[in-house]
Parts: sequence; C-alpha cells; structure tokens
Amino acid sequence: MAIEIKVLDKRGDDPEPSGSAPNAYGKIQIRGEDLVEDRYHRLRLIKWWDQELLANTTVVVAGAGALGNEAIKNLALLGVGRLIVCDMDGIETSNLTRSVLFRQHDVGRQKAEVACERAMEMNPDTVAIPVQGDLRYSIGLGVIRRSAVVLGCLDNIAARVYLSRHCYRLGKPSIDAGLDTVSCDVYTFTPPVSSCYECRLKEADRKEFRRRQSCLKLARDETGFGGKVPTSPTSAAIASGIQTQIAVRLIHGLRIPAGRRLGLYGISDVFFDYEIGISEDCPAHGWLECLEGQEIHETQLCAATSTLDELLGEIRARLGEGAILSLDGDREVIVGLSCAACDQRRDVLAVAGDLSEDDARCESCHEPMAPDLRSQFDGTEGLGHKTLAELGLPSLHIIKGVDAEGDQEQLFELTGDLSLFF
Ligand SMILES: [Zn+2]
Ligand SMILES: [Zn+2]
Repeated sequence: MAIEIKVLDKRGDDPEPSGSAPNAYGKIQIRGEDLVEDRYHRLRLIKWWDQELLANTTVVVAGAGALGNEAIKNLALLGVGRLIVCDMDGIETSNLTRSVLFRQHDVGRQKAEVACERAMEMNPDTVAIPVQGDLRYSIGLGVIRRSAVVLGCLDNIAARVYLSRHCYRLGKPSIDAGLDTVSCDVYTFTPPVSSCYECRLKEADRKEFRRRQSCLKLARDETGFGGKVPTSPTSAAIASGIQTQIAVRLIHGLRIPAGRRLGLYGISDVFFDYEIGISEDCPAHGWLECLEGQEIHETQLCAATSTLDELLGEIRARLGEGAILSLDGDREVIVGLSCAACDQRRDVLAVAGDLSEDDARCESCHEPMAPDLRSQFDGTEGLGHKTLAELGLPSLHIIKGVDAEGDQEQLFELTGDLSLFF
C-alpha cells in the first residue's frame, strides 16, 4: 500500500513537475510500512537502509565468545535474516562478564547453541544456526560461499589464519575483530585484491604457525597460540560495533575500509586507521588459489551419509576414470599412526590438527605416534566405504576433483547438505 500526499508549496499553485516520479517535488510518498511503527521503523529512516536486503542476507560469525556475542546481538537486532555461528567451546563462568547472550544457568552448555537460541529470541525474524566444532574443520566452504561476509570473532592466531584462508579461497570479504585489555581493532579483508590476515602477521607469528603446522599434526591441549587474553565487555562492544557497522555497509554495497586496520587504544582514547598492504611474504597471497568465479558442480551428496566411493563416482562421471579427490590447499587427513620404535601401526581417521596428541599415543611406549597423512584419494586406500564426514569433510563443503593426467580440475559441492543451513 502506498499513500501519496500532495504538499502545497508556498506559492500554492505550483504546477505538477513533468513525469510522475514517485518522489517528485511537492509530493511525499509514504509507504504502508511507514504508517505502522514496526520493529525496523527507526532503521528504515536511514536513507540508504534496505531492510529487505538484510533480511535476505546470511552472515557467518566465527566464534561465539565476547566478540561473537556482541556481533550476534547486533546482527539479530538489525534483522539480518540468517546467522551461522561456529564455536567449539562450552560456556564457562568467566565468560559471563563479557557475553551479553549468556546467563548463569547456561554455564556448561555450548556457546554456539545458546548464542543462536538467544539471537532468535531477540528477533524471531532471524534464523541462527549453530555449527558445533572447530572452525578450521567444521565450516564447509559452501556455507561461506552463500554468505555475504564472514565476521571473525576469534581469540587465537591459528583459527584466524584458517578462517582467512577459507575466505581467501572463495574471494569472500571478512571482518576480523580483536581485543587486548581495553583496546581493540578491526581488520577488513577482501582477498585476493586486498591484504589478508596473513599479510599482517609478523615474521615471528608466521614462523610459529609454520612450526605448528609441520610438527603439530596432532593437537595439543592448549589454547591456540595467543592464549587467554585479558578483555572487557566495553572493548568487545566497541570492536564489534565497528565490525558490524562495516558489515552492514558492505551488505549495502557502500564503501568499506578494505585492507585497513581501524581501532582504539583504549587507555589513551586514540583512534587509529591505517592501511595493511599485501605483504610480499604472505603465505596465502603467494600460493593459495582463489576459487571465486570457477564453476562449482552441485551434487546431491551429504557429508554425513555419502561415502568416498560415491564422491569419486561423481568426480569420475565428470573427469573420467582415474580422476581423484584432491584436498591440496584445504586439509590433510590422518589415515594411520605408527611408532617406529615399537614397530606398531594403528588405523585412525581424523583431520590433521584435530586428533589430540593424547589420542595418538603408542600403547607400548606412550610416545605420540607419527601420523600417516594424505590429501589425495583415488579409492585404493581401502577407505571407499567411509563417509565424507569420517574423512574430515564438513557439511556443504566444496572439494576438488582432478583428472588422471592432472590437467583438468573441477569443483564439487556437497549440496545435499544445503537444507542443514538454508
Ligand atoms: Zn595475504
Ligand atoms: Zn611406541
């Protein structure tokens, strides 16, 4: 419904402007929804605001801690239609000082699950879907592909590097917030054209990450590197306020501070904003392939129920006999553990980095066993009957098939999982 009100000009007899543009001079157009002060009324008063657009947008929130709570709260209040929230941790009492969505009686429950429940309570127009698990392995690229932007609300470098690489591979913008006592900063990345998270890492951080990658295929029971950072609810609110506001502008196609670091030194009230250029030594900008624009073949396969054999069948139907599944640049799978000292071997199946050192100890000498790693599968591994989830592929993931000669590649998506998220 649209009502048109004719406003008389001071001269009283102003002629009709030629044409009948909806907001022509002398007329005010009031839309039906403006007559009722609905939930979004004040937001719609913002000139460039498009509530419909927000309602049809998906945002991935990586991390449901102090920053994630704020981001999820903001996005739900704004009426963003779909949130996908990934976190692996449970709620602890010490989280309650910085987590607007958590209550005392939530302690012990999963952060992602509770945050999503509260978001939908705050705004029933928002659908919030929790993904319980380690961000590095649990978020399928198909989820990120269908989102407008990814918000990084993480507390450690390793998770940030993985998130950055996921976004890089899809050419997806990400906005990463960080906290340090009462200071905070927000990085906006639009790789590969702008810098990425790894561009800004110092050499010592990169070295440490590489060291962990090469020798820590098995996870140690420790908090990422970065550890527990002293933070406050105020800095989380400021960082996430900036982060969410940039996201909203990005969704509306407005200018965003791509490749820039914005923030506040909270102890001296100094705001900063400077450019983070693409680093020549960036591990991602050197070798990581951006899949954006490449054709993705949508299959009916599901991570939880489809097998490696079925996936190879799909790959070979398109790329011919002998084509293989390649997880290069994505992840490595541990297919066995061995202890040279005791001449022992054990079959296991886990994503490298996700199997704990304690679960990989030799039964005889109790030392961690050496993992047998694979990132390519041709069906001769004896794993054909294993499900894709058992192989460490998340729901709605996108993987690559390569033909027998290694000349042709094709992307395949586990689109059978679509209804889990959309
Ligand atoms: Zn980079
Ligand atoms: Zn041993």
